[in-house]
Amino acid sequence: MDIQYKSNEEIELIRESSLLVSETLTTVAKHIKPGVTTQYLDSLAEEFIHSKNAIPGFKGYGGFPSSLCISINEEVVHGIPGKREVKDGDLVSIDCGVLINQYYGDSAFTFAVGEISPELQKLMRVTKECLNFAIDNAKVGKRLGDISHAVQEHAEKNGFSVVRDLVGHGIGKSLHEKPEVPNFGKRGSGVQLKEGLVIAIEPMINLGRKQIKQLADGWTIRTADRKPSAHYEHTVAVREDGGERMSTFENIEKAVEENENLYKPTLVNG
Ligand code: MG
Ligand code: MG
Repeated sequence: MDIQYKSNEEIELIRESSLLVSETLTTVAKHIKPGVTTQYLDSLAEEFIHSKNAIPGFKGYGGFPSSLCISINEEVVHGIPGKREVKDGDLVSIDCGVLINQYYGDSAFTFAVGEISPELQKLMRVTKECLNFAIDNAKVGKRLGDISHAVQEHAEKNGFSVVRDLVGHGIGKSLHEKPEVPNFGKRGSGVQLKEGLVIAIEPMINLGRKQIKQLADGWTIRTADRKPSAHYEHTVAVREDGGERMSTFENIEKAVEENENLYKPTLVNG
């Protein structure tokens, strides 16, 4: 299928779905602490999504077994929740999707438990900045490559590397629509951005090298060099003055502030 440009009515429905993802991540953020299992966090998310009469967007998608992807440290994305306990010093990336009123929302956030090294603090900050710069470029008249380039330039300038094999995507009635939104690319290349384009922008930034591997579980992606990776994602509508966030980190960041078990980064807008 070609790119599905959305009407304003559809964009409002995607906003609703995306805000529900943000609320779900906020609920989960309140419960992250050493000793909690990733499957417990997943059950909280699933119950919350059902309580809002929505459907977890990931569960059953291509056979994925859970409502959240939880990827820890060297795991990049698509980690399957299970009996693993979160521990002090972990970098915990949580990705969530929901379906309600026939439209999907998709967003991800990376949390850090307890104390983490300055190097990891920088990785988190830079990855979130990559997302914000990308969103600034989700502007009518620019091209897809401007978004991709913004991520790559900022990540590499800071000495980090960009995962190549996994990309952002269009989103709407399907979780993954055209176009693909790579986190690397040439400025001025690719399709021109128009009003009605809604995309999930999701930089996956590695502390070490860019290469990844898939685990034997058929899902979890980790860095080949086993160094940590961070992941932030917003669902974004292309607008005249830059991308408009459909999802929000505002309450997630408040929950981080209030959760004594989590590292508190210097706040970056977005
Ligand atoms: Mg996602
Ligand atoms: Mg996504």
